[in-house]
Amino acid sequence: MSGATMAREAAIDRYEMVVGLEVHVQLKTRTKAFCNCSTNFGDAPNVNTCPVCLALPGALPVLNYEAVRLATRAALALCCTVRERSVFARKNYFYPDLPKGYQISQYDRPLAEHGHLMIGTNADGSPITVGITRVHMEEDAGKSIHDRYPGRTAIDLNRSGVPLIEIVSEPDLRSSTEAGAYLRTLKQIIEYTGVSDANMEEGSLRVDANISIRERGETRLGTKTEVKNLNSFSGVERALEAEFHRQARVVNGGGRVEQQTMLWDGARGEVRPARSKEGSHDYRYFPEPDLPPLVLAPDWIARQREELPELPRDRRDRFRREYGLPDADVEVLTSSVQLAEYFEGVARHHGDAKPAANWVMGEVLAVLNASAIPFARFRVRPADLAGLLDLVRDDVVSHSAAKRVFAEMVATGDRPEPIAERLGVRQERDEGALAAWVDAVIAEHPTEWERYRSGERKLQGVLVGQVMKKSGGRADPKKVNQLLVERAIG
Ligand SMILES: [Zn+2]
Repeated sequence: MSGATMAREAAIDRYEMVVGLEVHVQLKTRTKAFCNCSTNFGDAPNVNTCPVCLALPGALPVLNYEAVRLATRAALALCCTVRERSVFARKNYFYPDLPKGYQISQYDRPLAEHGHLMIGTNADGSPITVGITRVHMEEDAGKSIHDRYPGRTAIDLNRSGVPLIEIVSEPDLRSSTEAGAYLRTLKQIIEYTGVSDANMEEGSLRVDANISIRERGETRLGTKTEVKNLNSFSGVERALEAEFHRQARVVNGGGRVEQQTMLWDGARGEVRPARSKEGSHDYRYFPEPDLPPLVLAPDWIARQREELPELPRDRRDRFRREYGLPDADVEVLTSSVQLAEYFEGVARHHGDAKPAANWVMGEVLAVLNASAIPFARFRVRPADLAGLLDLVRDDVVSHSAAKRVFAEMVATGDRPEPIAERLGVRQERDEGALAAWVDAVIAEHPTEWERYRSGERKLQGVLVGQVMKKSGGRADPKKVNQLLVERAIG
């Protein structure tokens, strides 16, 4: 074993990892948090701007009701207590893409607090639960573009003022694996509630990690660092491992971990220090004078709770109960809300859940994974896939022909019946046509026919095969078998 490996194992024996995550989620509103500009992603730079989000003098923010509704919904899905009165605050700092010189956020009276999230179970079956410290609303800053014009930085303010929530967890996570499980569970809930696309590539879900180490058995928290620039869940897991071992090396070398911001370099697999991180008082938070406190009536909050969409865990329970599917199927089918809804559409139209589950987990996922297209661009509608399953159940097409039909449905978006017709794979069940093929085969293979009639049952397969060949695969094998038996007796 190498020295480095031994040092790593010794660190894991001696120290415990303590992690809390801050997750920024962009709310799925049509317009920005405090003005009517569009939130559309990918538009030309700076077209979605107005005096409010450009911070022109005298422009005043007006709170977007839909943003409040979605933020409240997310907070309730995370089992938080929603405050009846929360306060917007100015978070002051300078950055070139922050035209106001402050961000409207929430500080000591956030929208919601004291939630929790179950991320799995321990070996003994007890739940692993992570506390949610708070969920607060804020606006996004603009975007600095460093790589477009050599030697210059460009600013795009389309994102300035886009509504976000920040979900802050308690330092309850004890490994990079738990951090990954927390993020995946959280993303699922965010998607199921329709609060956000939670798309990391487009920046609508961003993660910062606070991490410290302490000797096992110690209950006090060590000094934490904040790791930023995490742009995938696996990146978070790798960055936490790297930072854990860096901190262990510092402490083992007799040093002290400094409170600072670290940047993750995914390509090199390293963390390195960014600007030094000072306490939150440096932002000089104070209540936003341009916005009144956000007051939510108790019955409005209660209604939001009643209107919560079905959460992943409830849907998993229902799939087991309602469709009688095994756990493994349920896990796959509920992994994303789109997949779960797609499956339900197919099962509802077809009427039989198990073949619907098999096709969605098999053929549908294979196409989606191979082509990496988003669900929105998948061309086979649930009703049409159900139609194809109907054709298989009714012996109109064979199972292998159904796969060819499905490939055509994926390519063209057409319905299954005309495709089956076009490909000539509809099984022929017309008695006259079948009888003609059977009789022709009998006439062409008199020896085999006689042996079959005198009791050599195994020749039935040979004769059926000949009929299938003659029909170009269109004869319904069940009917052909039937006809042969009838002719042999008769
Ligand atoms: Zn605007």
